[in-house]
This record gives sequence, C-alpha cells and structure tokens, in this order.
Amino acid sequence: MIIGPFLIFSIHCVLIHAYTSTNNGAAVDEMRVPNSPKSVAIIGAGAAGLATARVFARATEGTDCVIRVFEKHEKKDNRDRGSSNGKDDERIFGIGGVWHYEGSPPMSSNQKKNKPMYKYLRTNLPREIMGFRERPWGNVKRNDWRVVDSLMPSFGDPDDYSYPTHEEVHSYLSDYARHFNLTQKISFGCEIKNLQIVNRDDEWSPIRLEWSCTENESCSHEEGVFDIVCVANGHYAKPAPLTIISKDDQSPAFKGTIMHAVEYDDPQAFEGKVVLCVGARASGSDLAREISQYASAVYLSDSTLDPLLGDDIPRSHGNVTVMPRTDVVTDEYIKFNGFSKESIVKGIDTIILCNGYDYDFPFINDGSMLGDDWSCVTGERRVAPLYEQLWHARYPSLAFVGLPHSVLPFPLFELQAEAIAAQFGLLPTLDNRMKAAIKDANGGGPNVPGRVQDTHFLGGFQWDYCRKMSCLAGNYDDRMEGYLSLNKVSKEHNDL
Ligand code: FAD
Repeated sequence: MIIGPFLIFSIHCVLIHAYTSTNNGAAVDEMRVPNSPKSVAIIGAGAAGLATARVFARATEGTDCVIRVFEKHEKKDNRDRGSSNGKDDERIFGIGGVWHYEGSPPMSSNQKKNKPMYKYLRTNLPREIMGFRERPWGNVKRNDWRVVDSLMPSFGDPDDYSYPTHEEVHSYLSDYARHFNLTQKISFGCEIKNLQIVNRDDEWSPIRLEWSCTENESCSHEEGVFDIVCVANGHYAKPAPLTIISKDDQSPAFKGTIMHAVEYDDPQAFEGKVVLCVGARASGSDLAREISQYASAVYLSDSTLDPLLGDDIPRSHGNVTVMPRTDVVTDEYIKFNGFSKESIVKGIDTIILCNGYDYDFPFINDGSMLGDDWSCVTGERRVAPLYEQLWHARYPSLAFVGLPHSVLPFPLFELQAEAIAAQFGLLPTLDNRMKAAIKDANGGGPNVPGRVQDTHFLGGFQWDYCRKMSCLAGNYDDRMEGYLSLNKVSKEHNDL
C-alpha cells in the first residue's frame, strides 16, 4: 500500500466533499447524493465518448436513463476490408475516432488527407498504461481481450509486445464497445450541428442538441433535449494556424510543398527528398524518424530544442539534423534561429508543419446562449470558462471530456466521466466555480507561471489531477492510489 499520497488525498477528498456540500447550502455532515439524470448525450464515439458511455451505463444501471452517443462517422461494414496484420478483423468502423484509420484519399479524388492517423503508426505509450482501468489490454498478438479483474495495469503476456499498431488499438476499442454493449447506444452518421442551453437562469439547465443524420434517412434532421451533454469530439481535426512560417521580402516565397502533419500517411512518398519537420513533439519526432528511412535528409526544428551547439555544429542522428526554431522560409534558403552559417539551409523540398491542432467546437455558436461565458479562440489552444478542465463553469450539465493533453488519455477519460456522473447536481457554487475557472484560464493552467496555450497541458500535474477526479467521483482509495502511482512510475520509465 502507498501510504503517503493516499493519506494526503484522503484528507483532500474529505475537504472536497465538505466544500461541495457547504457551497451548495447543505450541512457538511449531510451526505449529498448526485441527481439522477434521465437523459445523457455524448458527442463522439472515440475513446473518450466510449468511456463516457460505459461509465454512465454503469452509473445509471437500473434506472430509466437514456444514453445516446452521436457519432458523425457512418458504421461501415468491415467484412470486405480485411486486416493488414492477417488476423480476423473485428474492428467496428465508425467508432474509435482517431484510431479509425482510413488511409489517404485516392489520388484521382484530388482531396487532401484530413485525419491524423498514419499508415505505420504504433502507439507511443505502452499498452500496459494505455487501456481503460475497467478493461485492461489482453494479449495483442492473439486478439485475446480477456477481462482482467484488477485495478492494476495488466502486464499481460511476456510473449506479447507493448506498443500496438493503430489497427490493434481500434480492435481494442471495438472489443470494449462490444463487451459493454455500447454499440446499440451509438447513432452512427449523426453529426451534432447546434448546442443550446435551454434555460439560462438554471445553472443545471438541460441542453438542446440538433443533429443531421446520413445513416438513417428517417432522422435526416432532428433535435432533442438532454439533462447532461458530454462533449467528446476529439482535438486532432483542426490544424493550428501556420504562424511559424515567415517570409523574407527580398527572396521569392518557398515554392516547395508545405503540408500539415494531418496530411501525412506513408514515408515512402518522401524517397530521396530533403524534408523539414517544424515541431518536434510526439508527431514531429515520429514523422522525422519514419521519413528519414526514405528521405536523403531530414531537419527537425523546434523552439524548445537546444539552439545550434556552442561549437556551431548542428546535432545529427543519422540523416536527421536537429535544429532550433524555424525563423525565415524562402525559396532560396531556410533560416533557423541562430547566427552561424549552419543556421541557413538550402535545398529543402518539403516542409511538414507538426505544430499541432486547435480545439474546435463548430456546434457551439451564438445560438448556444452561452454569451460571454464561452471562449475558444483560434491559435489560443484554450477553452474557457471550465471548472477543473472539465465542466462548463456556469452550466456544468455541459462537460468536455478529454481536453487535457500530455496525459495518459484513456485512464483520464474514464476518471473524468466518473466525476461527471458522480457530481451531477453537486459541485461547488457558481461563484466558486467561476473564480476557479477564471484563475485557471488566465493563469495558463497548473503550470505557474503558465502560457495561455498551456492551459490544458498537464504532464506531471496529471497524477494529482487524476486523484482530484477520483475524489470527485467518490472512488479514491488505496487501490486507486496504487493504480495511479503505478501508471506514473511506468510513464516516467517510458519517458527515459
Ligand atoms: P477522437 O478519437 O478524435 O474521437 C472524436 C470522435 O468524435 C470522432 O469519432 C469524431 O468523428 C466524432 N465527432 C466529432 N465531431 C462530431 C460531431 N459534431 N457530431 C458527432 N460526432 C462528432 N493516445 C494514446 O493514448 N496513445 C498513443 O500512442 C497515441 N497516439 C496518437 C497518435 C496520433 C497521430 C494522434 C492524433 C493521437 C494519438 N493519441 C494517443 C491521442 C488520442 O487522440 C487519444 O488517445 C484518444 O484516442 C482521443 O480520443 P477522443 O475520443 O478524445 O477523440
């Protein structure tokens, strides 16, 4: 048993309970229970939406609560598609969000690829800490998704590998949906178009949704009102603006190819080319690694990387050269942040912008009745006002699952969903929620002092965040502490 953090957080949980109770006008010793929702809508059937659907199904078991998941993808039949790894294909197309890989559009269609998953991607987290707590990974190689009745990460079969392919993650999510009977709750081909707070004077107001449906013609345009709406629409669809590229007025503009990482699929397309990846986080580094197997040279540039070495020699790993920030891009040369001649590079054919994605909620608009209580500005990477990065601070029947990044996503989704289910009708007062939300948004999240763009960056703060979610969910105990501590140790080991 891990005593230290458990004791501290047990006290913290008691305080959260007391705070929640007093701030809702109830006596501290009076045990408050959450309201029981009659209807829950979930936007998106990616990993976050599936986890939320499962948690609500469990939390509302035995009640007449209706849980509906809206997924804009259609549920295509996958029987004819086969699987590239030779196993029986058990993936459910339409679920899985980013893990539902569709490849590149045919050349003849003239369309650009607009989904972030790429052909040879393997996870950058080991499956032991990537799965859901309630259904850890079984044996990937054997497609054996056995239930492991344990809170601890499953270290599985020593004969198995830790970093699955995207197809295997899709299979895992399909198994999860099948095992918990989630597919029947999903309305496939239904895209949410509008969201509206029904009663602005009621802080736990129901929420109206409007959607359009392609899969079933009888519901081509519909609407419905829900007690709780959980937004789980993902955050890898809208490329961040291209502010990194700047021009030099004296030289002609870059005539090579500029593309965003969302368009990348197959490294063989870069055979013999000189490629610059701008941005060296997870995708920039992985793309540089893949492409370097075919390209003649790859430059990987990021403002967080060390400037050119003191002796003016750029650092190279094979044919990948690490560069600082990209400053000037012209057709004659590209200049990186530095003063030496090595900071100027010529002959680059292709620039891949690996500068990330923006949060995007096209269904939240002027008609949503959120007024000034909504901010999601292009390029800011911040959603506000949110209480605990999860609930809309003014109208908490609206929640956003999966906004924090640099985290273990699946375990975090599960805990966030459990907190939403446990806190419906509870939470601190409006005043306290708003104060906390404004502090968070203006302070740049848990990093102090933080940048606005890092409001939802958790990294090492995620463990305390998960403990807090677990306290709010009412399931924090020594087993949970063990689970979180083991995830932390495994994650830190993975980062070595
Ligand atoms: P998504 O998977 O994007 O799902 C959102 C769903 O919402 C989609 O199905 C979409 O169609 C639907 N939707 C959107 N708008 C609407 C609407 N208006 N109406 C109805 N439906 C809508 N995480 C890891 O844990 N390990 C990894 O190794 C890893 N590698 C990654 C590699 C890449 C290239 C990317 C892009 C991400 C990676 N991630 C990884 C992070 C990954 O995004 C999360 O793990 C997780 O899958 C995100 O799930 P989500 O449900 O939040 O979003």
